Amino acid sequence: MEDYKQPKPEWLKVRLRRDEQYYQTASIMQKHGLHTICVSGKCPNIKECWMAGTATFMILGDICTRACKFCNTQTGRPNPPDSEEPQRVAQAARSMQLNHVVVTSVDRDDLPDLGAEHWSKTIQALRKALPRATIEVLVPDFQGKTNLIGKVLEAKPDIVGHNVETVRRLTPKVRSRARYEVSLGVLEWINSRGFIAKSGLMLGLGETLDEVLETLHDLRIAGCSIVTLGQYLRPTPNHHPVAEYIRPEVFEELKAIALQMGFKTVESGPLVRSSYHADQQASKLTHL
Ligand code: SF4
Repeated sequence: MEDYKQPKPEWLKVRLRRDEQYYQTASIMQKHGLHTICVSGKCPNIKECWMAGTATFMILGDICTRACKFCNTQTGRPNPPDSEEPQRVAQAARSMQLNHVVVTSVDRDDLPDLGAEHWSKTIQALRKALPRATIEVLVPDFQGKTNLIGKVLEAKPDIVGHNVETVRRLTPKVRSRARYEVSLGVLEWINSRGFIAKSGLMLGLGETLDEVLETLHDLRIAGCSIVTLGQYLRPTPNHHPVAEYIRPEVFEELKAIALQMGFKTVESGPLVRSSYHADQQASKLTHL
């Protein structure tokens, strides 16, 4: 088991100095009163992404109804959705001149529609503000309710992601309320509706290589065409410990295997996160 204070291996150290663009991205988020998973998830790529003028918007507030053991987002009773948030996301994305917009949300098991309507309004507002941009959404499982996911899809995002996060065996230990099979079902349904389906998992939680390969296989069967693989990092001592730091060459090998399995795009590396280089993946795939 990892000691929380143990230094990270060299390949996980990010040595970048915040530049003016970083602070500009931060000030746009602040000005529009928006949340990002970059901050909320303590993402190690925040300097790189924000210095490149990109970020991942997190809608429906910053308090989640679930308490996954890997996630730094606060758990609790969220406020009602802010009806002006979709417009503010759209305004911020326009002022950032994004060609590719990535949006995610907290889980809203407290709402009758689990947040589907708010999702739909956000996509519509983005489409109106940035008609040429591609829109990628990373959605919760909506408790497997396809009518609610359908509401999100009606707004026509270009890429629809839903993360399995980990292998089947570790899902009950690591994710809260979510079920592996439900997530696969969500992805299968997204793909069956003609949308580009994307998923991702974190490595280093204690899974075996065989389990990773099984998960990749399950994702292909479900119709995923994009997959991301990254190293799990423990946000605080209260979160699930890191079982292992996976070496960069293993990520490279997994990338080659995933491509052989038929994924069209694979991002695999210690610092890879769902939305890392999402704009590059999108430009490769939105012509499909
Ligand atoms: S990888 Fe995603 S979550 Fe992390 S900083 Fe970049 S855009 Fe934000």
